[in-house]
Amino acid sequence: MNGFRRDPEDVLAELAALREGDAPTHGGRVLSYVYDSGLAELDELSARAARLVQPVNGLDPTTFTSVAAMEAGIVGFARRVFHGEADGVGGADGADRSDSAEVVVGTVTSGGTESCLLAVKTARDAWRSVRAGTPRVPRIVAPITVHAAFHKAAEYFGLALDLVPVDPQTGTLAASAIEDRLGDDVALVVVSAPSYPFATLDPVADVAAVCRARGIALHVDACIGGFALGFWPDDLPTWDFAVPGVTSLSADLHKYGYAPKGVSVLLTRGRDRQRHQYFRTTGWPGYPVVNPTMTGSKPAGPLAAAWAITEVLGDEGFASLSAKTARATAALRETVEGIEGLRVVGRPTGPLFAVATDERVEEHLRVDPHHWADAARQAGWFLQLQPGIVQADGSRLPHTTHLTVTPVTEDVVPELAAALVVAADAVRGVPKVDGELVLAGLADALPGGLEPLLASDAGLDSDTAAGLLGAIGLLGGEGGGLPAQMAPVLALVEALPSQLTGRLLVELLARVVEPRG
Ligand SMILES: *Cc1c(COP(=O)(O)O)cnc(C)c1O
Repeated sequence: MNGFRRDPEDVLAELAALREGDAPTHGGRVLSYVYDSGLAELDELSARAARLVQPVNGLDPTTFTSVAAMEAGIVGFARRVFHGEADGVGGADGADRSDSAEVVVGTVTSGGTESCLLAVKTARDAWRSVRAGTPRVPRIVAPITVHAAFHKAAEYFGLALDLVPVDPQTGTLAASAIEDRLGDDVALVVVSAPSYPFATLDPVADVAAVCRARGIALHVDACIGGFALGFWPDDLPTWDFAVPGVTSLSADLHKYGYAPKGVSVLLTRGRDRQRHQYFRTTGWPGYPVVNPTMTGSKPAGPLAAAWAITEVLGDEGFASLSAKTARATAALRETVEGIEGLRVVGRPTGPLFAVATDERVEEHLRVDPHHWADAARQAGWFLQLQPGIVQADGSRLPHTTHLTVTPVTEDVVPELAAALVVAADAVRGVPKVDGELVLAGLADALPGGLEPLLASDAGLDSDTAAGLLGAIGLLGGEGGGLPAQMAPVLALVEALPSQLTGRLLVELLARVVEPRG
């Protein structure tokens, strides 16, 4: 015996059993989080590529030269797809992309969040480099629909986040609303292509023009949609490096690059700008640390898988997967638009969209999107609930249900479309869960009522927070999974002060991974 405590086969069997409890990652039943190409060969390719580099440390591409080669390959691919390739003087926009200030360079990161964090860190340090000594806190200006990764970046890196309201009916951004917020303290403007909540393709060219005129950096967050839109069958307004004034762009390979989780790419226009992304120190007695990303030692597996997929698929492979996704998205949107009481929010672009109540019809015909999602879930379809939110100007964005469509969805469109219709029929006329009523119910369940809770805000200790979660039925039950009905949970999220909601959710997530017993 080799001194093992357990038989590896037993351990793997245990893991397989645990996996049975997961939401299904394949087959199109989960319309968020997972991006299924529907091609089993790609999954197998990923696994084999990752295995080949399993022991490699991606930390040092000079020691592990395969990492440098694969990273250059992916950056080159992305740069071409997103129109950042050197095309000499007189390219589409007249810029010379062989010039050091115009050349598009990039980094492979561990995911969209890391790409966004690094875009902010880079812009902050570039801003500081020209405003040495200014005591001001730099600001990020972005529509409220910008991904939460930028909230995280602002918090981690000490910037203020200035969220610009969008049209409450359609979720669209007016470039003038961004322009109104610009000033010397703005280190970065961020727009999305498209946004996660409503799939709005922000007016990149118009925003870029005003940013460029003022020398302000502009990031296009194409994390979710980038590798789908790059091959999208419909004509789209220009949104990538073809637009002068776009200084960086993020796109996730673990979304519509069909790679396993842990890989995204951040592209930046200008070598000198991009050098601000690096952390470096020789100020310790160990090896010089020079990192373009946040981690030190890092896996090469996701990089290798993503590289292998881009090599195998090529433009044609991506285009045919995007075409499948586009057909499925169009079909599902048509289904939803045909359901009385629901509406697709705004004019979504790319492989995702959000659904809200259609308030133009009489109340008894309206369908609440959260009840709808809960009903669909009972039939085995996982849609994602999104809360309503009040914007800085007092207008209210509706609560919605989100669908991310992937190539495999096309294979299940008839089944899914039928389920969406049936789910709507089951809940038509049922009003939205009243958050205030849920709160009142909570007050009854709490020994001291609701007042102390609301007063405690974010200052709850972990035992009080856990007790509360138990009272709501979110913690302490058997299994520990999500409740069958998510609509009341989302109603509570909307009704409670956001600081308190945040604190409770922290407790929930922290307790989920606490060892039991
Ligand atoms: C998914 C996403 C991100 C964050 O990416 P992760 O890979 O989940 O870290 C950022 N922006 C948008 C628009 C996204 O959809």
